[in-house]
Amino acid sequence: MRKARLPLRPGRRPRPRAALGGDPHGGRQDAQSGDSEVGGGRDPHPVDALSEVPRPDASVDRGRQSDLRGEAEARRAGDPGKKGALEPALDGEIAAELNRLLGAEGPASFDFGALERGLREGVLAAAAKILQQVLNADSSDQASADRPCACGRPARFAGRHDKWITTLFGRMRLSRAYYHCTGCGTGFYPRDREWGLEGSALSPGLTRLVGRVAAEVSFGSSSELLRELAGVAVDAKQVERSAEALGEAIARDEREQVLASSPTAGTMYLGLDGTGLPVRPAECAGRPGKQPDGSARTREVKLVQVWTASRPSPEGPVQREAGSVSYSAAVESVACADTERDLSAFAQRVEREAKRRGFDRAARQVVLGDGAAWIWNLVSEVFPRAIQIVDLFHARERLWKVAQERYGPDNELRGVWARRRCEELEAGPVEPVITALQALGGAEAAAAAGYFRNNRHRMRYATFRRMGLGVASGVVEAGCKQVVGARLKRSGMHWTVAGGNAILALRCCLLSGRFEDFWARREQAGNRLIVFSTTDPRAESAGPQGDPESKYVVGGR
Ligand SMILES: [Zn+2]
Repeated sequence: MRKARLPLRPGRRPRPRAALGGDPHGGRQDAQSGDSEVGGGRDPHPVDALSEVPRPDASVDRGRQSDLRGEAEARRAGDPGKKGALEPALDGEIAAELNRLLGAEGPASFDFGALERGLREGVLAAAAKILQQVLNADSSDQASADRPCACGRPARFAGRHDKWITTLFGRMRLSRAYYHCTGCGTGFYPRDREWGLEGSALSPGLTRLVGRVAAEVSFGSSSELLRELAGVAVDAKQVERSAEALGEAIARDEREQVLASSPTAGTMYLGLDGTGLPVRPAECAGRPGKQPDGSARTREVKLVQVWTASRPSPEGPVQREAGSVSYSAAVESVACADTERDLSAFAQRVEREAKRRGFDRAARQVVLGDGAAWIWNLVSEVFPRAIQIVDLFHARERLWKVAQERYGPDNELRGVWARRRCEELEAGPVEPVITALQALGGAEAAAAAGYFRNNRHRMRYATFRRMGLGVASGVVEAGCKQVVGARLKRSGMHWTVAGGNAILALRCCLLSGRFEDFWARREQAGNRLIVFSTTDPRAESAGPQGDPESKYVVGGR
């Protein structure tokens, strides 16, 4: 049975995909205050209709065009086995849809915007209908009477079952062969594995779109944007499940794919910081925190950033190079068992990111952070030759906090004192600042004096500047706001640690410019290939050594 068109690619066994679990939380983790349940009551598309018609993204367009070209070429070549009805069928459907929309009057009488939207809907619904027919006409997935089960025994073909999925073209019903293993009492759908649909009702192309949007805005806003921009109905809860499963896959990929690269500059910078993530009560039960009763409402996200910097003018400040920063973040421990040489989970994350960027091999390594003890313990262990700098931003902030405490917000002396200390801090040794703090008196000043004393070798700002180093990048501070604050700390959001970490992985991947690479790797792994056979019904499971002429691939993004 012939199906779709060329570009040939050898069939590969897919890697098992992340299954989307049920909803263990109840309620959206990032539901914002005043954020109405999107999708409730105003879904313009009936759930079981084929009229939900999302707009395909560019890559799908490319895939479709080349598919059609392949079809046309096959026809010109006069190959009777490769002649298909899809192109004329689509042409016919589109023309019919256009005629229906225009009616008897023609384009002149028509509202252009309404015409565009209506035609998009009609064209995609037509494409969905035809694609569904094409996919379901192929039953090669039931060609073998049995297939190996994970338990090692054979699973027997046990009929075909339908499943509704949502794609970039809208909803469609897929028919798939089911194999049941009496040995262990479980079953599976080979086609779901092949097409990345195990445990998911969203197609790979739509999953990608959902991930792209949910990395930026809340699940509710994602649902609204998908409806407006892509014409596809995915409710907020579905966005959450799909984006989190994708984020978990990206997190696994981040752990497994560490391609070392060469340093991109002689001096490279690495920043470490932490910020509180608002979590559900069960996620911080029994943990000490900053609430009046001593309890916690947050867990700490730790973030590592790597970047390069340069000095645009000889006397000007050292500035971060645009587009050079990459991020990796998670709610993760910096503690490790005393007996083990193993680094903590977060230290391993830092190591991976350093390797990926070539920081570990940079001629001059600079680490910026605030005064937190875990930061400098980690740096001493992982990067013993790095130059350690307390970000001037944090040091200044600390001085202003003391001044505020001592003088109050309205007293002129507050600014006078703080500015004077900041000047001293940048001019040379830290000792005058420590002396001034001791002279000021009060608990806050005493604590600050200890902070400056402990970190004085990390605060030699005049010396660092003479060495051509950036000391107050603002990058470290901005990183937490951009990666965590802007997406995960909006009012009313409460996360599970697993859910928060998944969205953090997704967001770091995107902000570091790695989203495209991730999908390329997924495709290479065979997860996105839809393989049909013309002659050999088992070609779906044939390896690359199988006859390539017998297999046709629909670019399945
Ligand atoms: Zn079994």
